[in-house]
Amino acid sequence: MTFTRQSGGRIRISDDAITIVLSYRQLRPQDPEAGGMLLGRLISEADDVVIDSVTVPGPTDRCSRFAFFRDRKRSQRDVTRAWSESAATRVYLGEWHSHPEDRPEPSGQDLKNWRRISERSKYEQNFLLFLIVGRKALRLWEFEKGRNQPVELQREMLSIQR
Ligand SMILES: [Zn+2]
Repeated sequence: MTFTRQSGGRIRISDDAITIVLSYRQLRPQDPEAGGMLLGRLISEADDVVIDSVTVPGPTDRCSRFAFFRDRKRSQRDVTRAWSESAATRVYLGEWHSHPEDRPEPSGQDLKNWRRISERSKYEQNFLLFLIVGRKALRLWEFEKGRNQPVELQREMLSIQR
């Protein structure tokens, strides 16, 4: 699945990563909200990004139907491990979480969280990506460092590859 950035670059999410996040869709009333991190590679020459790995909720995260709280210590360990196992090429790119609605809209709390994460997290690039997994749609936003609002990225429809 590929999205187009305002810069003209592309964000590709690998099939494996898509399969994992789709398995956390909140299709049944009792399904809790889930979330994790987006990890992948920056293809610097082309302004392209590949998300090829996601983390999933663990036993120390807290989930309810309308909220998800990630264990920050475990998250940092996951990022560090991914970075070292990939010979320092796999980096932290942002966050994903699920919503119990067909076409997900970021809540006011989501926007606050994204702004806070963009300001406080450590990352190499000058933006972070935020994916919301709804029941019938995935939506992706890019939050540039120093900006106040995220920009939604459009799904590329002409691509032959997913
Ligand atoms: Zn949300």
